[in-house]
Amino acid sequence: MPATPDNPQEKTPAAGTATLIDGKALAARIRAGLATDARRLTARGVTPGLAVVLVGEDPASQVYVRNKTKACQEAGFRTFDHHLPASTSEGVLLAVDPAKDVDGFHPENLGRLLLGQPRFIACTPFGIMKLLEEAGAHLAGANAVIVGRSNIVGKPMAALLIAADATVTVCHSKTRDLPAVVRRADVVVAAVGRPEMIKGDWIQPGAVVIDVGMNRLPSGKLVGDVDFAAAATRARAITPVPGGVGPMTIAMLLANTLTAARVRAGEIQKD
Ligand code: NDP
Repeated sequence: MPATPDNPQEKTPAAGTATLIDGKALAARIRAGLATDARRLTARGVTPGLAVVLVGEDPASQVYVRNKTKACQEAGFRTFDHHLPASTSEGVLLAVDPAKDVDGFHPENLGRLLLGQPRFIACTPFGIMKLLEEAGAHLAGANAVIVGRSNIVGKPMAALLIAADATVTVCHSKTRDLPAVVRRADVVVAAVGRPEMIKGDWIQPGAVVIDVGMNRLPSGKLVGDVDFAAAATRARAITPVPGGVGPMTIAMLLANTLTAARVRAGEIQKD
């Protein structure tokens, strides 16, 4: 889960010479389409519903859950909240039915993604693929560098980019000479959780830059993992923070939820 939720009230930065990849606008378009589908499904007697299991009292997670709930209500989905104590073990993940695992975190769904037979794709990487499409990024044969190897972002992102025929490098805290690796990238996906650690001069001129990071500075400002102002002078296209990846994560969560409801209603098959 993001350490700091993307607050819709915060201002999207301007992108200098790069094209801004507007995740907020794309997410709004996707959610409008989902609302139409949800109305149609509801008229057939099946209303999509999202059950959220929140463990513990983390304030950032609570805001994230509130954002999910609001987005669901706007799209005409039902929501069900389950609050478990902080002592709950991670085994809870395995208790989720893989056919309802709309986060795409269950080992079965992650495994299927690796095998090239995806059912539910983890929402943040799924949203990033839509942002890359929106930016007109040519992925076949491109050098894609992902910084971060978490199970919820870096690893599923690598699987999706491999499936899109990119040549993928996954970096982490033990990577030697990270700037040199990033400088070779046509596509950069930064998912580290360290404010502005990817410097502008690491960006190859013309690269497409996706910033997943959400870091709250002591001043209260929300920034990504990329030094946005400097990177935007070299990138061809770049996502802002806020207003880039964050809104797309929620849109894709709703998309997965609608898909699960359509499977359940017998409208589509997904296996
Ligand atoms: P994790 O903390 O799980 O993973 C961070 C990764 O960054 C690890 O693989 C770690 O390496 C790597 N890393 C840490 N330091 C360095 C370094 N100095 N050089 C290279 N790699 C490094 O984070 P998440 O993937 O969960 O999240 C990453 C960021 O994305 C956070 O800011 C989070 O808030 C945000 N996020 C945003 C979402 C959104 O919807 N916008 C959704 C999910 C996350 P190692 O494995 O070696 O420890």
